Amino acid sequence: MFNYKTDREIEILRENNLLVSKTLAELVKYIKPGVTTRKLDIIAEEYIRDHGSEPGFKGYNGFPNTLCTSVNSQVVHGIPSGYELIEGDIISIDCGVFNNGFYGDSAFTFPVGEVDEKVIKLLKYTRESLEKGVEKAIHGNRLGDISFAVQKHAESGGFSVVREMVGHGLGRNLHEQPEVPNYGNRNQGIKLKKGLVICIEPMINMGMKNITQDPNGWTIRTMDNKPSAHFEYAVAIDHGKADVLTTFRFIDEILNN
Ligand code: MG
Ligand code: MG
Repeated sequence: MFNYKTDREIEILRENNLLVSKTLAELVKYIKPGVTTRKLDIIAEEYIRDHGSEPGFKGYNGFPNTLCTSVNSQVVHGIPSGYELIEGDIISIDCGVFNNGFYGDSAFTFPVGEVDEKVIKLLKYTRESLEKGVEKAIHGNRLGDISFAVQKHAESGGFSVVREMVGHGLGRNLHEQPEVPNYGNRNQGIKLKKGLVICIEPMINMGMKNITQDPNGWTIRTMDNKPSAHFEYAVAIDHGKADVLTTFRFIDEILNN
């Protein structure tokens, strides 16, 4: 039922997610007021191809681009366009690659210039909730332990958890079993076993949890039009401590400079 990965396969996934991590960091210097989301998409595609890989999302179920660029009230699956970022925006950039038969998939939400303090808090709590989930992604735990940890932290900041969109297994397919909800109960769900590779990706809203889909069939946005944040790691389940295949180190190095 689940595609448990060999150590060799996990190394391929690590390599792919490292490229995604570096692609997201490459974009940081372009994420400024005035840049279009389409421009970011072009830069990402070139970067991925220059590094010997292929965009993972382009063509997936007909998705037209390399990146999902979701601005402000857009939760996920925003389509790159002529929209120019403005000071105070936040943009979730979700990026996938495909190489050596496997995918990579990670996301980060970036501030554009100076951002409202409340929105900074949303970013902080969303990223922390991902880390809380990762702490539970250990062999022998249950899936609900991850979900519960994410939800608990997000809600402790006064934010709400999107229900309809969830994380997923990752491997030869972009979306594999199991689904990884960002809400749930401890001690419930499947037992996590070494070799399982999952994407944990909290989508956390400033206002209510409800979402709606645009007529383009892709873009998910908050029903109340308030901001939403999204961070995603690919994680290999292991004994004692999760093996995180994504790193935000390159992004942090640039942002904190
Ligand atoms: Mg993703
Ligand atoms: Mg994903």
